[in-house]
Amino acid sequence: MPSFEVRTRTGGPTALEESAARKVAASLTGELLRPGDGTYDETRRVWNGLIDHRPALIARCAGTADVARTVAFGRERDLLVSVRGGGHNIAGKAVCRGGLMIDLSRMRSVAVDPSGRTARVEGGATLGEFDRAAQRSGLATTSGVVTHTGVAGLTLGGGGGRLARTYGLACDNLLSAEIVTADAQVVRTDATENSDLFWGMRGAGANFGVVTSFEFQLHPVGPRVLGGVVVHPLERARAALRFYDEYARSAPDELSADAIFLTSPDGDRVLALSVCYAGPMEQGERALEPLRRFGPPLLDQIGPVAYTELQSAADAFFPIGLRYYWKSHFLEEIADDAIEATVSHFAEVPSPRSLIVFQQYGGAVSRVPRAATAFRHRNAQYDNFAASIWSDPGEWDAHRNWVRQWWGMVSPFSLGAEYVNNLGEEGEDRVRAAYGDNYERLVTLKNTYDPTNFFHLNANIRPSS
Ligand code: FAD
Repeated sequence: MPSFEVRTRTGGPTALEESAARKVAASLTGELLRPGDGTYDETRRVWNGLIDHRPALIARCAGTADVARTVAFGRERDLLVSVRGGGHNIAGKAVCRGGLMIDLSRMRSVAVDPSGRTARVEGGATLGEFDRAAQRSGLATTSGVVTHTGVAGLTLGGGGGRLARTYGLACDNLLSAEIVTADAQVVRTDATENSDLFWGMRGAGANFGVVTSFEFQLHPVGPRVLGGVVVHPLERARAALRFYDEYARSAPDELSADAIFLTSPDGDRVLALSVCYAGPMEQGERALEPLRRFGPPLLDQIGPVAYTELQSAADAFFPIGLRYYWKSHFLEEIADDAIEATVSHFAEVPSPRSLIVFQQYGGAVSRVPRAATAFRHRNAQYDNFAASIWSDPGEWDAHRNWVRQWWGMVSPFSLGAEYVNNLGEEGEDRVRAAYGDNYERLVTLKNTYDPTNFFHLNANIRPSS
């Protein structure tokens, strides 16, 4: 009987009959791709150009029934399975080597209910698609700062962004979800129905199944907000970052301020302070006055701007297909020694594309009790990371080492844990640290919903049973 090689859940090879693959393909509304098929290469590609994995099969699902059918097949044959939302995990967890990739990129619809201020978003939608649909009704909810990122992975790990201080994380705005669990059941979950699962999904969701759709709470935002950047030269970055830390931590919830070390188009290393005020313009003008006065900055580009335009302003820094490596941690404040180490290290950055970022949290994020969701580090004020970004395959060592050296110097001043969505291949200890006190409850949940660890290409909670 003709067959081909596929990887099993534990990574070993097994033979799969051609006839079995054809049967699954025939049962799908979407497609089942094999190497050599027309769209195979473009479908397996993810955001990080370092990743070049080749699944044996890609199920391009067209709806929940396709997902359930594919999960059932993967379970029957004990296959290695990955799930692709937006494909932005730094380590390329969305795509597996030699296994079955469940691809949701055909499932991207966004249905907004303007009167109820809610939206239903399919599991393969991007942030930009969600933002644009919601803004047509003058609404939005928290999402990340680069529009081609997936709603699914971002929300399931937490989801910080410009509205987080006002409205909480993306996962805090989740009202319900539809999920295909490891036993191929379609399950609805919210605060009352399967509420244990709903708790785990808000921070560790990739561990429990394939989310086919999310229902979000929306809020009136914009359509214009006050936003933009002020820019300081690297020579004055120590004072500017110190000022930023005090200013940001005492800012009103409506204001979100991120600090980014970057190289300007002229080749100058600078510190950009990027802001969004999601409230009345006059109040925003007053809140931003000290920030705009400090220095003074080299450049002040703050003004009224469409929320969707602000949301796409950072896209050019993270194009799809370049090479990326990063390390991160949460901070409660920016210690003087961390400022010194960061500024001196950025002066030596080996790529003009690379960045060091302080993404602000706090506000509404920190008022949710720590045990209320799987996302744990509610006291973090910043998600702080260094990202190496380059294109030449031969330069890997220099860029990775630059990030690692920075992390080694600055992590003693951190909370000792990072945002789970920034994790790549750091291993189990870092996953445990990311969930802290919530970890054991997650293991119990994993034992219930995925005792064989069928869904393990993620920030993995290992079942104990
Ligand atoms: P994928 O690689 O598709 O998935 C990530 C993980 O989730 C994988 O384990 C995957 O199997 C799983 N998964 C995906 N879809 C589903 C699904 N439907 N059901 C179940 N599991 C699924 N994070 C923030 O919080 N705020 C930001 O502002 C922010 N900015 C970012 C900017 C860039 C350029 C990048 C690359 C990342 C950013 N992140 C940010 C981190 C981001 O949240 C993670 O990379 C996230 O995993 C991306 O989700 P995805 O769906 O695109 O990724």
